[in-house]
Amino acid sequence: MPEHLLEMQKIEKRFSGVHALKQVDFWLDRGEVRGLIGENGAGKSTLMKILGGDYHADKGEIFLDGKSVKIKDATAAAEFGISFIHQELSLFADLDIATNIFIQRLPQSGPVVLRKRMHEKTKELLETVGLSHYMPEQSVGSLQIGEQQLVEIARCLTMDTKILVLDEPTSSLTSKEVKILFELINRMRNNGVSVIFISHRLDELFEICDNITVMRDGEMIDTVCAAEVTQKELIYMMIGRELNEMYAGNRHAGREERLRVEHLTHKKRFRDISFSVCSGEIVGLYGLLGSGRSEIARSIYGLENFISGEVFIDGEKADIKSAAKAIRLGIGFVSEDRRREGLCLEHSVLDNLSVVCLGKLRKLLGYIDKRKENEMCRKNISDFHIAAERPRKAVKYLSGGNQQKVVIAKWLNINPKILIMDEPTRGVDIGAKKEIYGILSSLTALGIAVIVISSELNEVMSLCDRVLVLRKGMLVDEIKAEEMNKERLLSASMGGGEK
Ligand code: ADP
Ligand code: MG
Repeated sequence: MPEHLLEMQKIEKRFSGVHALKQVDFWLDRGEVRGLIGENGAGKSTLMKILGGDYHADKGEIFLDGKSVKIKDATAAAEFGISFIHQELSLFADLDIATNIFIQRLPQSGPVVLRKRMHEKTKELLETVGLSHYMPEQSVGSLQIGEQQLVEIARCLTMDTKILVLDEPTSSLTSKEVKILFELINRMRNNGVSVIFISHRLDELFEICDNITVMRDGEMIDTVCAAEVTQKELIYMMIGRELNEMYAGNRHAGREERLRVEHLTHKKRFRDISFSVCSGEIVGLYGLLGSGRSEIARSIYGLENFISGEVFIDGEKADIKSAAKAIRLGIGFVSEDRRREGLCLEHSVLDNLSVVCLGKLRKLLGYIDKRKENEMCRKNISDFHIAAERPRKAVKYLSGGNQQKVVIAKWLNINPKILIMDEPTRGVDIGAKKEIYGILSSLTALGIAVIVISSELNEVMSLCDRVLVLRKGMLVDEIKAEEMNKERLLSASMGGGEK
């Protein structure tokens, strides 16, 4: 007979080809704050989405207050008192703060929405979550991501929440916002609410959680009392015993310095970052979401400003204030947001391939040499095995992997010295992933210096000659291929030293 507030028993879930949850048992007590950890892909979000009614388990049973329940959708979950703060935000950017908070239960008198009452309540809530400087009528889209997350929490406070699930909420929060969040969690705990907190930040987990549950490869590993476990033990549980695996880096790393940054400092996101990348070398920037890795890359490419520090290309100081300047200096950049920044989805494969090298294709009087453009595009398509029978068709019809190959090929057309790739294989299938790794390796044979940003451990370990580990905007470790292991990467990126 289940005696906990929540029990999930023998939960099974498969997605085509992926066994995401294997006979998972999970329990939760009243007023407990539970940490849930595991590497990317371990199954944390899937388990929680089953609890939230977004996914249905293939097998298994869920008990709430000892009663077997079926959670058929998100509305049903809300009725059971299960509230979510998702990894992806779920607010309506165009609507104002008050409407977002009360959207499911607008205070009404008959058909009339009681705006004044709603706004008064919203003001109180904004105060509670530390956003008293905003007005209820302001649109949510004008808030920072972290602030939007606090609005989501305000929304949860209006609901009759028994279980609150937070899926990696702190990656976009500032430390001040994290403090507010933790105060709110503590307050909820005191009111008997149970909280499930998914995070990669061990120091935060130790600060807020009573117990910590570890998942690995779709399996439940263990649940331990936070006060009785060390960071090291948790990492062992996350990665299993296969420590110190060796990975062969690539063989093309040269000694000629291509890129060097010195004391690069951003207003908010990172400080005092210095490193260099040589010709033919692949250097990884590894860190949790929000550790500053993307912002560093974007600063080098001129998309973000840094307040101090210097960038050198081939030993010469470079003053890069715009992406156009970066391209002229031979820097290519593959954004993590391929669909928004890397490609013009409505435009043809051909246009996308030639867009950054039109200068090279211009004839007298500025006309584009169509024949040359066609030739180049054909060559790209065959060199990279891009599955695009008709290059004039819009690029949006290609698969994720083929779109990514278009982005990479496009950059090679400017003969870059340096190529920066932010999450190069996000959202592409295994086959395309392998191909992209092959392409990267062939780029290094051409002497191109490559920077890879990735949150996948296996990816940085198998690709990089060297990995720079970032935590909270600071460079905390530098690991060479021969010294690389999961344990060191994880402790450097997650931990605040020994507990
Ligand atoms: P975590 O949250 O621990 O990073 P997830 O629960 O998101 O892990 O994913 C577990 C596994 O299930 C991964 O291999 C992931 O690729 C797969 N997966 C999750 N959601 C889907 C989906 N909607 N379709 C196919 N595969 C999925
Ligand atoms: Mg997840």
